[in-house]
Amino acid sequence: MALSNCPECKGTVSEAARTCPHCGHPLMTFHQAYPTVPPLLSLVLPGSGQILKGQTLMGLLFLFMTVFLYLLFFPAGLLIHFLAIVDAAWVDPNRKRFGRD
Ligand SMILES: [Zn+2]
Repeated sequence: MALSNCPECKGTVSEAARTCPHCGHPLMTFHQAYPTVPPLLSLVLPGSGQILKGQTLMGLLFLFMTVFLYLLFFPAGLLIHFLAIVDAAWVDPNRKRFGRD
């Protein structure tokens, strides 16, 4: 398992650690620590998973698109709802870990 240094106390920490074991400094954002939460939120309310991840505009777009398409043509609404869940579950491979340079 890869190791890195805590940005706060410079102690050696595991890449998988959610918080620093030495000083308790958070090393991940909420959705990085709990990647299953955004897709579950988007399942209940389309776009809410994106909003949790900080993609507010994208989340609102998914919400309005899903509601609009459900009313207009149900299968299309279902498709956009599914896409909202997949998008919420997708983790950006280029994102930087919280507090790391
Ligand atoms: Zn630390």
